[in-house]
Amino acid sequence: MNQADEIKSKLDIVDIISEYINLKPAGSNFRALCPFHNEKTPSFMVSPDKQIYHCFGCGKGGDLISFVMGMEGLDFIEALKLLGPRAGVVIDNKEFSDNSQKNRLLQILELSRKYYNYILTSEKGDLKNIKNIKKYLNDRGLSEEAILNWQIGYSLDNYDDLLNFLRSKKFTDIEILSSGMSFKSEKGKHFNRFRNRIMFPINDINGRTVAFTARINPEANNNHNLGKYINSPQTEVYDKSRVLFALDRARMAIKEKDVVVLVEGQMDAISAHEAGFNNVCAVSGTALTVSQLNLIKRYTKNIILAFDQDSAGENATDRGISEALRMGFNLKIASLEEGKDPDDIIRENSDNFKKYLDSAQDIMSYYLLREFDGIDINNIRDKNLAVNKILTVINKLYNKVEQDFWLKELSQKARVEEVFLREELQKIAQNMSKNDNIKENEVEIKTLNQESLISWEDKLLESLLSLLLKNNKYCEYVLNNLNPEFVMGKYQEFYNYWLIYYNKEGRIDYQGLLNYFKQENLLPMEDDLKKIGLISDFYWSDKEVSEEKIKEEIIKNIIEIKKNFFKEKIKIENDNLIKAEKENDEKSIQDIMKNLKNYNEELQKII
Ligand SMILES: [Zn+2]
Repeated sequence: MNQADEIKSKLDIVDIISEYINLKPAGSNFRALCPFHNEKTPSFMVSPDKQIYHCFGCGKGGDLISFVMGMEGLDFIEALKLLGPRAGVVIDNKEFSDNSQKNRLLQILELSRKYYNYILTSEKGDLKNIKNIKKYLNDRGLSEEAILNWQIGYSLDNYDDLLNFLRSKKFTDIEILSSGMSFKSEKGKHFNRFRNRIMFPINDINGRTVAFTARINPEANNNHNLGKYINSPQTEVYDKSRVLFALDRARMAIKEKDVVVLVEGQMDAISAHEAGFNNVCAVSGTALTVSQLNLIKRYTKNIILAFDQDSAGENATDRGISEALRMGFNLKIASLEEGKDPDDIIRENSDNFKKYLDSAQDIMSYYLLREFDGIDINNIRDKNLAVNKILTVINKLYNKVEQDFWLKELSQKARVEEVFLREELQKIAQNMSKNDNIKENEVEIKTLNQESLISWEDKLLESLLSLLLKNNKYCEYVLNNLNPEFVMGKYQEFYNYWLIYYNKEGRIDYQGLLNYFKQENLLPMEDDLKKIGLISDFYWSDKEVSEEKIKEEIIKNIIEIKKNFFKEKIKIENDNLIKAEKENDEKSIQDIMKNLKNYNEELQKII
């Protein structure tokens, strides 16, 4: 058994998928909202018997490995490495080429992380600075254990120690540059990017280090005009809009508690985790992006923002908040004490942080309070301004019932008739949709493209065969009325084998057919059969379908398949005709005309 098969045999697809999305039982299968496309009614099915999933909306489907690849954005080998330990399967690196550019960069980052951490914990070299940094971290409540746990490190005040270390490990200057760990001077010399800084590794969702945040040594006189914090640049493995700090550690807790707490800085997240708040992630100073929200959406729809009061719900995050509302997240804001960030609060007394989280306010109540507190409700201008701000947010709300609720609240608070508010809201919505339309259309097109990946003829075959799987007695009818030559697309061969099996056994049954494919070593056929089995369950299991209806469907399908066949033939001959006319090939033209006449007649007969 190869490693992929071993993993699949030891893990259950239902366990794996339910770590990402909520599965609801549907007969012997499970159903859910598809995580790969936007939808409001669930068309994503998971079959525990067949160990496959399939979405009837966008057509995505496969086994647990392909699911993890899709969800985590991993390639096949990366997915095996992620799943291997859970299945107790050791992934043998040698079996796969591990020397892709991406892997080389990840190796550099991992080595750098270990190197920086070693310098800080082994206390070798620059003892004075190292002691200072340790004291700084300890003062901020981070124990030796936490330093190890988070792999915090120190970059020496040196231009090439890390570079030389990486060179000694046989990495080229270009590779090191591409990993973001060095920079190149105008004269073409390479230098360490980070010097005399506390190094916080940033991991991707699988816990692999992809970048660093580096804080200047607090004792250093910062005269190189660089910020207190600097980050790794964007690289092939690091896209800052796609990473949430600590999500690799927090994701299971987020799913369990069904809520994520977002803080601003890495130190906030680290303190929170060390104090037992294990569902906390940091946005690291950037605005919350759609990609980050998409990551969160896999685990929960509930977000508590625990930002420092100066920035809570202000500038930097506002765009993120609108996006989150538009995507249907429930947002709450923890009103922290002014001038304090979560790190300060937790260090004083972690119970207080819990209190803030427990009393977090729904974002709309928060906005209402913020906009109306302290303004003179009789000052028309101020009132207008506040009303408009709130309406803009209400417009973003995903849910109409919620919109309605907050319009009423606003009407009371601002003492404005609800009808007027509704009129205003409509204006805002119209203005907004002009801007938003472009974006939404993009999404629309993407989904459509995905859908069109399954061709019409494949869909017809899927539908027909799934019906037959449930209703064996029509096999004979189909056999007599649908010659294999009419079948085009990916099920051509499959249909042939199907008929061979039927002629041999005199019936079609899922398990028997599956065993037959196994014996004949027809792996792609096995996969196709599983898919058709799932389609069969999805469309025909839950419903009471009358015999007549089934027959009607089967006949309809056969007609469509044949129509499709002749239309395709006519298309091909038309193309041939153009070519032959160009070449003045009289003989071919006549043959083609004869064929076209034939096909058209056949098509007319069917219609
Ligand atoms: Zn889908």
